[in-house]
Amino acid sequence: MRLDADEGLVLFKQADLLTLGELAGNVRQRLHPERLVTFIVDRNINYTNICINRCKFCAFYRDADNPEAYILSKEDIFRKIEETIAQSGTQILMQGGVHPDLGIEYFEDLFSSIKKRFTIQIHSLSPAEISFLAKKAHVSVLDALIRLRASGLDSIPGGGAEILVDRVRKKVSPNKIRWKQWAEVMKTAQNIGMPTTATMMFGSLETDKEIIEHLVRLRDVQDETRGFTAFIPWTYQPGNTELGGRSATAVEYLKVLALSRIMLDNFDNIQASWVTQGAKIAQVALEFGANDFGSTMIEENVVAAAGIAFRMTKKEIIDVIRDAGYIPAQRDTIYHILKKYDLKS
Ligand code: SF4
Repeated sequence: MRLDADEGLVLFKQADLLTLGELAGNVRQRLHPERLVTFIVDRNINYTNICINRCKFCAFYRDADNPEAYILSKEDIFRKIEETIAQSGTQILMQGGVHPDLGIEYFEDLFSSIKKRFTIQIHSLSPAEISFLAKKAHVSVLDALIRLRASGLDSIPGGGAEILVDRVRKKVSPNKIRWKQWAEVMKTAQNIGMPTTATMMFGSLETDKEIIEHLVRLRDVQDETRGFTAFIPWTYQPGNTELGGRSATAVEYLKVLALSRIMLDNFDNIQASWVTQGAKIAQVALEFGANDFGSTMIEENVVAAAGIAFRMTKKEIIDVIRDAGYIPAQRDTIYHILKKYDLKS
């Protein structure tokens, strides 16, 4: 039975942690009875940290005149892709800041050069970057996506969703696209057959009601398009940010994760965020609705910029999933299983 926003809010406010976990665990068991926990081998490549948006929650971006500002060369990007493929990687997630001088032609050239050299899924550019590229090129989002896809962009990560409520966005990321534009980019991509994921960064300034609003908005888009492959909730990391404040606790994380699994009845996959929670809470997350361990993230810079340094190798991910009593399986971007591992090592 689908919960509406009011019912979801009552559940979120009144149910205790273990009740939410049990409900979410039941949904997970129904959707994924085979007890597989999937992961992908990929690398985040942050092609630049220069960004005009200057979000208050972001520790990663730099102004163009900052001594730490950079743009990776094509050679650097190619080397990182070679290293990823050498480790059985199947995907690169390229995201940057929104660099004022990098237009759509830069990405068309970059993506097509990558595709000429490598067999790899290009899962890249958040809605904020795509929206900027379209505007800079004076074309529609649809035309920008068609051009980017023709040059090699395969799928789009759900970054930059933060909370899909403009009251929150105006406070934490006032220069970034509003929620309707985020949803429009995703719908447009999904309608031309590009898979996308969806995220939620919570634990900053939002209310419980706004968390529910975020989930219902995603669920509504998914009802229309069926184009989201997964949902990834993760917690705001306050270190080195203008916004500051506190980190969400493990209990807060697990409650939101479980609520997501219960509310998002049209999403197949929910990821545990070991990058922000560490391996131990990510194991517990598997009992709170998560069925995917996300990516090995051979390289990660955005969360690391906020001072969080959880790292795991592919072997560690496999061991951690096994220790939790699940069957590890490497997948590709669209959740096809590439390799299953035994329950015992
Ligand atoms: S979150 Fe993204 S858009 Fe915002 S400042 Fe950081 S890099 Fe730029």
